[in-house]
Amino acid sequence: MLNVPSQSFPAPSSQQRVSSEGRSKVPLKPGRSLMDWIRMTKSGKDLTGLKGRLIEVTEEELKKHNKKDDCWICIRGCVYNVSPYMEYHPGGEDELMRAAGSDGTDLFDQVHRWVNYESMLKECLIGRMAVKPTVPKGMLPKSQVTDTLAKEGPISPSYDWFQTASLVTIVIYTKQKDLKLDSVIVDHQYDSFRAETIIKDYSYLIHIELSHEIQEDFSVRVIQNVGKIEIALKKKENTSWECLGRPLENHNSFVPKKDAGLYYRKCQLISKEDVTHDTKLFCLMLPPGTHLQVPTGQHVYLKLTITGTEIVKPYTPVSDSLLPEFKEPGFPDNRYIYFLIKIYPAGLFTPELDQLQIGDLVSVSSPEGSFKIPQELEDLFLLAAGTGFTPMVKILNYALINMSSLRKVKLMFFNKTEDDIIWRSQLEKLAFNDKRFDVEFVLSAPTSEWKGKKEHISPGLLSEFLKRSSDKSRVLICICGPTPFTEQGIRILHDLNFSKDEIHSFTA
Ligand code: FAD
Ligand code: NAP
Repeated sequence: MLNVPSQSFPAPSSQQRVSSEGRSKVPLKPGRSLMDWIRMTKSGKDLTGLKGRLIEVTEEELKKHNKKDDCWICIRGCVYNVSPYMEYHPGGEDELMRAAGSDGTDLFDQVHRWVNYESMLKECLIGRMAVKPTVPKGMLPKSQVTDTLAKEGPISPSYDWFQTASLVTIVIYTKQKDLKLDSVIVDHQYDSFRAETIIKDYSYLIHIELSHEIQEDFSVRVIQNVGKIEIALKKKENTSWECLGRPLENHNSFVPKKDAGLYYRKCQLISKEDVTHDTKLFCLMLPPGTHLQVPTGQHVYLKLTITGTEIVKPYTPVSDSLLPEFKEPGFPDNRYIYFLIKIYPAGLFTPELDQLQIGDLVSVSSPEGSFKIPQELEDLFLLAAGTGFTPMVKILNYALINMSSLRKVKLMFFNKTEDDIIWRSQLEKLAFNDKRFDVEFVLSAPTSEWKGKKEHISPGLLSEFLKRSSDKSRVLICICGPTPFTEQGIRILHDLNFSKDEIHSFTA
């Protein structure tokens, strides 16, 4: 389905492009990059053949347009003529044809629901699907609604509110005990107040236009043992509120997270520091009306408008350092998000990001990702290549601070040269200070002075590295890097008899 260049990276001729069992990535013809597509959409060419008209499309009509040179696809109720886009799709024409003449929403969501197709395909929009008469939701017998939710996921939360002279407190009853502060994301911007609670793989949304004004700062509290969340808003004026406000889109909804859509807020670039010759530490500040903490092992999407088109790419926030003494006291963790980002001179997104000035704004999405750190681990092994190191940063911090059962944490860090190693001295210092932690650097193209290991990921290397602290120790292996590196690593781990549950791979 629709794609962005990160999926077609590395270059077609690169040895990194080994065959993959997952999504196929095909070399694009010259002149068929995302940038070329953006140029094409701005050329004024009629890409739908409808001369700017929008039509209502019936299912029967959609089905007829199922050939490469006449291919319509429906995504979230909107129908696009994707024939002109075929050659530009990094996943290849065949991948796109899987949804030809049909509703491709599920396929699209499986692969890259975060891609801003509305912006990329706006010139290909044919119109909307004609709506079929359906039974309104409110007309369903109540038991049927409840049964569906109960079978498919956790019980729907509910909310209530109360007030004092100066405060309005919204209380969310989640009926779940293992809730953390990072399960709640609150955004108060202009007239809209949003509080999204993530419960297992579901999203519960409160979305209202508040009836009265509130002050900028608010507090969020999770009362874990009863699964209650309290959001305390400070009134601007000490008057009594008769109602909380007016419901906005999807208010009080409880849906699978994948169907909830990603919400973006604008964050300010606060600082940008060189970490290696090509990788920088970016610090972004959340807006004052936002409460957002990115859970360990999860990523967000950054969005920039590049030549008039919104482009998004995923990035994994890190802590500002691996060492507590490096923390700047004036920068409390909950207002700032840090990213280690490699700038690719020929890339689409990172050169633009690098051009931003301090004070400029970048849109940051709510977090995504499936990583959950198991408790009671004894051995944690981290295999990282290049910026694949980024998810390991918070995992390492979390494990060393919170996991008392841990006996050993070992990081094997693959890079091309010594100059490419991110935070080398911090890692060495951490290993020196904490006897539970070891780091080994492996280089693929070092200088002749390099005394360490010189190779790529291999069975010999991993079998020597992944020694359990005892025969039956509970182990987790995390792996992240260029896709072929990760795929090769997983194959080796299976061959070494590590089970699926013992491996977590970070992929798109
Ligand atoms: P791209 O335009 O994707 O290009 C990258 C390189 O590939 C360039 O050198 C370009 O010339 C080459 N290239 C692109 N397309 C082609 C093609 N068709 N043929 C030949 N060459 C091509 N990165 C980080 O630095 N830090 C992170 O924390 C981070 N987290 C991530 C988390 C996730 C879940 C994922 C999936 C990726 C993450 N990435 C991270 C990678 C990031 O999302 C981008 O892929 C990366 O920043 C490159 O983006 P770009 O648009 O600048 O480069
Ligand atoms: P890089 O510098 O190109 O490579 C890092 C190391 O990996 C080098 O030693 C490289 O060796 C080796 N390597 C690359 N391909 C390999 C392969 N097929 N087999 C064995 N070794 C291989 O890495 P990068 O530019 O920083 O890229 C990092 C990647 O991680 C990106 O693709 C990014 O999308 C991904 N990433 C993913 C996530 C996530 O959560 N999913 C998070 C962050 C980053 P050679 O150069 O000698 O081949």
